[in-house]
Parts: sequence; C-alpha cells; structure tokens
Amino acid sequence: MRTAETQIEGKEEIANLRKRGIVTRFHSNMVTVEDEKTGERFLCRLRGKFRLQNLRPIVGDRVEYTEDGFGSGIIENILPRKNVLEKPKIANVDQVILVTTLKDPDIPPRMIDRFLVLVEKSGLDVVIIFNKIDLLNAEDMKRLDELVEIYSKYYEVLLTSAKRGDGLKELIDILKGKVSTMAGISGVGKSSLLNAISPGMRLKTGELSKKLRRGRHTTTFTELLRFSFGGYVADTPGFANLDISSIDPRELKEYFPEFKEVGACEFSDCVHIDEPGCAVKEAVGKIIPESRYSSYREFFLEIVGSK
Ligand code: GDP
Ligand code: ZN
Repeated sequence: MRTAETQIEGKEEIANLRKRGIVTRFHSNMVTVEDEKTGERFLCRLRGKFRLQNLRPIVGDRVEYTEDGFGSGIIENILPRKNVLEKPKIANVDQVILVTTLKDPDIPPRMIDRFLVLVEKSGLDVVIIFNKIDLLNAEDMKRLDELVEIYSKYYEVLLTSAKRGDGLKELIDILKGKVSTMAGISGVGKSSLLNAISPGMRLKTGELSKKLRRGRHTTTFTELLRFSFGGYVADTPGFANLDISSIDPRELKEYFPEFKEVGACEFSDCVHIDEPGCAVKEAVGKIIPESRYSSYREFFLEIVGSK
C-alpha cells in the first residue's frame, strides 16, 4: 500500500526528472523542445492543464519537460516570459540585429531610423550592422564614418563583410548564448552573415526573406536556429512591415535617444515640431544630427497624417 510519504517521494522524483529546454519550433499540436544543456531535440506534447488554462507555448519559451523514453516528451511547465515579440511571435528575445548596407542596396539613413523607432518601441537591445563593407570605395567609407558616428553614440555598431570575413568574430561574440532576431530589408546579407558564422545552418541566401514573403499568405511558423557556438536566431526577420502608424505621435520623441540629451523645452508637452522655445530644434546640427531630426519630423507628420 502506498503511504502519504511515498507519494510525496514520487512527486519529487518527477520533479527531478524535469529538464529545462527552449521551444524552437511549432507543429500543429506539438512543439520541438531543445534541451538547454545538450541541444538534443524532443517532440513534446502539452499537459492537459495547459488547454484548460488556455495557455499555449510559443517559440522561444523556456519550458520544463519530461521525457517519455521514446524520443518525445511532455511539457510540464512554461516559465515566465521576459518579453514577447509579436511579429514574428517569439518569446524571450534578447536582441535585434539590424543589418543595413551603403551599397547594393544603398539604404537611406531614413530607413535605419524607421527600424530603430520600431526597435526602441519594442524595448529590445539592438546592434546595427553595416554589411558589405568590401564594396565601399574611399568616398563611401567617408559616408560610413559619418553614419557610424551618428549611431554609435547610442547603439552598438559593427562593420562586416560576409564575403571577406570582416567583423565575423565580433558578430559571433554578440550572438553567443543569446536569442536574437535579424532585421533589415531583403538583400542586405542577413542569410549570408548567418551562413558565414555558422555553416551548419545552411540557409539559402535570401531564405530569411523568402520565408517572410510566404508568411504574408500562409501561416508559416518561425523557427529558432541553434548556433554551433551557442545561442539562437529566428529564421524570420523581425520588424519587417516597417509600419509606424500605430505609434502615438506624442510618444514618438521617446524613441530618439538624442532628444534626452538636451535641456527642457519651453512647453513640457513639446513635440519638437513648431513650438516656440524648443530645445530640441535648437540642438539640431549640434547635439542632434540633422538627419535624425529630419527623420523624426517626417515620421511625426506621417503618423499624424495617418490618423
Ligand atoms: P538577405 O536577403 O538579407 O538574407 O541577403 P542575402 O544573404 O540573401 O544576400 C543578398 C546578396 O548579397 C547575395 O547575392 C549575397 O551573396 C550578397 N552578399 C551578402 N553579404 C555580402 C557581403 O558582405 N559582400 C558582398 N559583396 N556581397 C554580399
Ligand atoms: Zn521641443
């Protein structure tokens, strides 16, 4: 006969068999969990209690699971999420890697600023990568230096060439042990960079973007890819629709860190557009780079116009 004591022991045993993992992929009613320590993969079912609680794991979730001995398992517990990115839906993202280029394609700073506004709104850390530096001549390099000066005051900036190998060691250090999502328009070299640092991933060039296009019509789920050196990256780029219209125009100024460097404006609710005594406008061309303020102004008017 089982006593109360052995039942408690039994419970502890189950608790001891629990392992920690991360949800890397979705299937119709199962998920792939990769073990935190070994990277081994298990197709896991959910315990019925989750259905009752209307709880569903999402990619990036840290979970506790138990193995059933047949290479599959059961999710016992979903650990609290640190954050949730909506598109693509991923939990516990550590950082955004924003990839941009000056040549092939020549991406205007305005577009970098648009991405940065969306990233700032998400509250995630961002690293800005200028890729394809192998294509730049002396004049382009000067333009690059100016951009690096503007952005490196507030963001980590890295110069890379997926083709020539520049900056790849540094990129590995940035990605190691973290969950990252790539951002940046098609053609800037997101897949090439990932392939260059983690050949095992074997992403076809342009694959990240292709997934995205497909994603507009059908529901493809994002998958987390594991780096051989530790850490994960989502196989679908984030912040891809570049839509800022849902931002409150009065809140937009919060997403330009430069504006926090200047003193107070005459009006405490100043939005730095046409108000008299505006300290931000006064600082343009001094503490605040002109291109950054002009992005702000354009975005502000765009958002107001869309309401
Ligand atoms: P994605 O759409 O952002 O994933 O971009 P891809 O990785 O598909 O790259 C787009 C094109 O740019 C491909 O033809 C790559 O070979 C090329 N490319 C990527 N990185 C570099 C680089 O650092 N230098 C040069 N010259 N070409 C690159
Ligand atoms: Zn102002």
